[in-house]
Amino acid sequence: MTPTIDQIAAQLQGYDPKSLRADAVLQFLYKLVEPVAEVEQVAVFDALDRILAQDIVSPISVPPHDNSAMDGFAFDGAALQPGQALSLQVVGTALAGQPWQGTVGPGQALKIMTGAVMPAGLDTVAPQELVQSTADTVTIAAGVLAQGDNRRKLGEDLMQGRPALRQGQRLDPAALGLIASLGIAQVPVWRRLRVAYFSTGNEILSLGDAPRPGAVYDSNRYTVFGMLRRLGVEVIDMGVVADAPDVLEQAFTQAAAQADAIITSGGVSVGEADYTKAMMAKLAGDSGGVAFWRIAMRPGRPMAVGRISAAQGHGDTGRSAVLFGLPGNPVAVMVTFLAFVRPALLRMMGCDMPAIPMLRAHSAEPIRKKAGRTEYQRGIVSVASDGSLQVCTTGNQGSGVLSSMVQANGLIVLGHDQGNVAVGDEVDVMMFDGVL
Ligand code: AMP
Ligand code: MG
Repeated sequence: MTPTIDQIAAQLQGYDPKSLRADAVLQFLYKLVEPVAEVEQVAVFDALDRILAQDIVSPISVPPHDNSAMDGFAFDGAALQPGQALSLQVVGTALAGQPWQGTVGPGQALKIMTGAVMPAGLDTVAPQELVQSTADTVTIAAGVLAQGDNRRKLGEDLMQGRPALRQGQRLDPAALGLIASLGIAQVPVWRRLRVAYFSTGNEILSLGDAPRPGAVYDSNRYTVFGMLRRLGVEVIDMGVVADAPDVLEQAFTQAAAQADAIITSGGVSVGEADYTKAMMAKLAGDSGGVAFWRIAMRPGRPMAVGRISAAQGHGDTGRSAVLFGLPGNPVAVMVTFLAFVRPALLRMMGCDMPAIPMLRAHSAEPIRKKAGRTEYQRGIVSVASDGSLQVCTTGNQGSGVLSSMVQANGLIVLGHDQGNVAVGDEVDVMMFDGVL
């Protein structure tokens, strides 16, 4: 059984849903979510951005034999004498994929190409451009080589019987190549996480709707869609859901029946005069409750988290989905997604990718900041003339100013206890360029 909201809350020191520290949110979410358990076998080309479900132990060594790292001449490096040139007789040629079959004795060398197997007894390669050679001799000048140079050793990349990749690894292009280098055609990955999302609010227009006074076009579904796709989850777009109990109920239960997680935007503010919060609370049913938070952060104060049941009123504790009820303001949606939802979803995906690394940059401007809340200001990081990193803000930091997210390449994270920032002070920046 997954723990209820109350059980998690009881485990966290100083938990206060009405004034939750931003740095306590992830602690909470990590207790709430669970990784998927189902495994699929997929071909290597289909494994990009999937999460490895089991360790991969190398069935072979890579490279499978000692081989040359250069085009040149292979010889026994023990013959090198300090301060002396070395002349050797060339007895043949080894090509990549075509090993030399003969023997190479004392005073002899073998012409060798990159990747060709090093014959027994030879451990050093003199690169072509470092030697003087004729058709059947090679001379290596004094002091240009040491024994063992330019030889790649068997298993120096991957050793047979040793773990090559760990469970939880996200399969990036390098990992795909590594798997293929082991001769492995199929990989076990966790099944894709399914995430449903919808926007709420009667003032929200869908694309194609005619503009009307007081209404705004839905942007949150598009930013959420983009951020989810970047994570590699299966997305279930449920559109804009009107603020009416029956419609909301249907959207939530349908989402919970299909998805592992539900992301909504809007309708979770304090004093919100709509049905969204009430419906979340109602549909939490047997599955542990929903918490409504006021987080000490800017932007993104209100947020709802918990679980939503697919089936209601049957004493049926079957399917439920994790709920991330995000605020309505477009920048708040992106910030809360980056700071909280993304790491929680990665955990659900079975991915042990570390958090987005923070950079330290010098603030190019003074920033006003009140202690007692975490602020995420949109920042533009660049390289200053002295080579250090500097950051400036994008100007208007309003939580509805989505253009600030377009201009920014990172979020300046000003911690809970931090006060004003002076010009030149170092600040933390969560880079999202390339992540979002
Ligand atoms: P709420 O949290 O529902 O009070 O919404 C806060 C603000 O965000 C309001 O100005 C809403 O109009 C705006 N908003 C809510 N949902 C969306 C959306 N899907 N796209 C754009 N703006 C939104
Ligand atoms: Mg609203």
